[in-house]
Amino acid sequence: MSGWIWPLALLPLAFASGWWLHWRNSRRSSGAAVSRLSTTYFRGLNYLLNEQPDKAIEVFLKIAEVDRDTVETHFALGHLFRRRGEVDRAIRLHQNLVMRDNLSDEQRTEAVLALGEDYMRAGLYDRAETLFTDLLKLESSAPRAMKHLISIYQAEQDWQQAIEHAKSYESATGEPMGRLIAHFYCELAERARCQGKPDAARDNLRRAFDVDANSVRAGMLEGRLEAKAGNDVAAIRSFERVARNDPDFLPELLPDLLDAYRRHGDLARARSFLAEMIERYPGVSPVLAMTALVQEQEGGERALEYLTGQLRQRPSVRGQGALIDLSLAQGATAERDILLVLGQLTEKLLSGAPTYRCQRCGFGARAHHWHCPSCKNWGTVKPIHGTAGE
Ligand SMILES: [Zn+2]
Repeated sequence: MSGWIWPLALLPLAFASGWWLHWRNSRRSSGAAVSRLSTTYFRGLNYLLNEQPDKAIEVFLKIAEVDRDTVETHFALGHLFRRRGEVDRAIRLHQNLVMRDNLSDEQRTEAVLALGEDYMRAGLYDRAETLFTDLLKLESSAPRAMKHLISIYQAEQDWQQAIEHAKSYESATGEPMGRLIAHFYCELAERARCQGKPDAARDNLRRAFDVDANSVRAGMLEGRLEAKAGNDVAAIRSFERVARNDPDFLPELLPDLLDAYRRHGDLARARSFLAEMIERYPGVSPVLAMTALVQEQEGGERALEYLTGQLRQRPSVRGQGALIDLSLAQGATAERDILLVLGQLTEKLLSGAPTYRCQRCGFGARAHHWHCPSCKNWGTVKPIHGTAGE
């Protein structure tokens, strides 16, 4: 331990140096107290600016010790400890503060919040949870405590509690939480699906749509659930609706949607939907899917013609790869060697690049995440557009 023996151990020091007495006396003449305090305060500030936080802490500790009313100094100290990664010291300081009996209600709330935040930083989620929950019992509208509890329950994957608190937070602050709550219901739905409880999964999806009617994730889950149950018409309806709401997710759901069309034996509908998407969506995925259908139904020659025409309008490395494959399959003999080299090159170009990126923090990934691993936002990771992506 870092030898935290404040406040008792520092008292003799303060007395011995005469500093405390001096300060007490000078305090009697009004104005002098302020200037004495400011001198000390600025000395501390100076240490801070010179990046000597140890000395700064020492000075601030003295101010804090001499005047029990300087609660703000304690908060500043706690902040300083945290910034230096000394969570243990911050915890002890805030514990001490919470137990003082001369705090205003506001200050006590602030101290409890600060202590809970220390616990969170130290990874002591259960203690933080207890503290914030107790605070909410005393003071039902402590939005900061609610917000912390929401992230604690997320970390613990206690989605039910996360939902309850997100709803309370929304009614306390008026800040819309529907999109976040829908993700929590989707987590519950996915859990139910994994446990082989499709009905419970459907209930949670309905709740997700209640709070966020355009939830992409709930729509995709619903589509997969219906497809698994053999309800291809319902699956097709869900996937199509998601793609129309947010075409950015088209590449994510296209393979499942195409499977559903195929099982249902409705390739005509597949082609008309793809044609609609190609109009509305700038990426290459629907073009490639359409090319495959044209090849299957009308032959390679027509597919090659179609793809060439499309790629003139939307150049893409993946499109180029498909064009090369198609040409090879059509038996283009003279250019064969060149095509083979081009094909390998294309594959190389595509293999290293991330295909998804978080629109909030820029995190790049090869697989899709609903919860950004970097900035922890929900639903912000989307397929990348551009020649090497969609
Ligand atoms: Zn992010």
